[in-house]
Amino acid sequence: MLNIRIEKTTAPKAKPSSEKLGFGKLFSDHMFVMDYDVENGWHDARIVPYGPISLEPSAMVFHYAQELFEGLKAYRRADGEIQLFRPDKNIERMNNTCERLCVPKINPEDALAAIKAVVDVDRDWVPYDEGTSLYIRPFIIATDPFLGVHPSHTYKFIIILSPSGSYYAAGINPVKIMIEREYVRCVKGGTGMAKVGGNYAASLLGQQKAEEAGYAQVLWLDGVHRKYVDEVGAMNVFFVIDGVVVTPSLEEGNILPGVTRASCVELIRSWGMKVEERKVSVDEIIEAHKSGKLNEVFGTGTAAVISPVGELCDGDDRMIINDGKIGEVSQKLYDAITGIQWGRIPDDMGWTQKI
Ligand SMILES: *Cc1c(COP(=O)(O)O)cnc(C)c1O
Repeated sequence: MLNIRIEKTTAPKAKPSSEKLGFGKLFSDHMFVMDYDVENGWHDARIVPYGPISLEPSAMVFHYAQELFEGLKAYRRADGEIQLFRPDKNIERMNNTCERLCVPKINPEDALAAIKAVVDVDRDWVPYDEGTSLYIRPFIIATDPFLGVHPSHTYKFIIILSPSGSYYAAGINPVKIMIEREYVRCVKGGTGMAKVGGNYAASLLGQQKAEEAGYAQVLWLDGVHRKYVDEVGAMNVFFVIDGVVVTPSLEEGNILPGVTRASCVELIRSWGMKVEERKVSVDEIIEAHKSGKLNEVFGTGTAAVISPVGELCDGDDRMIINDGKIGEVSQKLYDAITGIQWGRIPDDMGWTQKI
């Protein structure tokens, strides 16, 4: 059992109203912190007032990006209780990312206890209004004050909490996506399957280019053949082609194994429908659109849950998908997952954990 010291703030902040929340701008009163060194392993678990941390300018994270993170949410049920959605999946993925970045893993039970404890201390920060949630951001940074290139010997594991507004306050609005043929987000053998800040830094220029052209996100192609679809922005991607649900497979290691992605695959199969996890070439998508068989395209991730794509742009070509409206499969998945997350429908899958 993880022993967590709790130091409560003496200056609690006022809770913001729901319409002011947005995403990732506001933080709760407390944070969880735990240190690692070679002698003691992960130790000194504590919940302290949210605030700046002090690091040497030479701390390795600033120079060689030995950093990783997770993202999940706590949801307020209609009955007032608070629950997490599949936190075990995030913790498993965090430890897989640790392995890829030579960071010492955290005992999964301790990581879960830490998440639950800090959410419990700040439980009043889980907002009540429809579609709102408390975003949970666990992360690990390398803290050795050293400029040589090797894995750090010291780390910090921190969990911060950010109340977030409804993603679809104005209704589900399909987005326009641009196929990116110049930049890539990862290559086979790289860190595509790991949730690391470095991947995001590398994706900014492509994202910026898409935004300048009037598109919300980039459709990333694989870095080796420049041919197969990897992800859409920082979301996993699904297609419905001629009634069959297709999503890129995880085998090559260049796709982030999303918890929402896995949940969609499991739900669709539980409905007796087929999901093909395989390579999907961008040419197949373009062909399917030409022959009128591209029924739906959507992204999946914790923030939006389901993000329908209404338009795909490839150079000068524009492909309108499903008349720019949310499709049948997308809507059914959205209703099922958000229903379970906010406790509006029974959790037959056993995915939620109350706090
Ligand atoms: C976090 C993330 C996702 C979505 O994962 P979820 O667990 O569903 O939130 C997809 N792609 C990338 C690159 C990500 O970082």
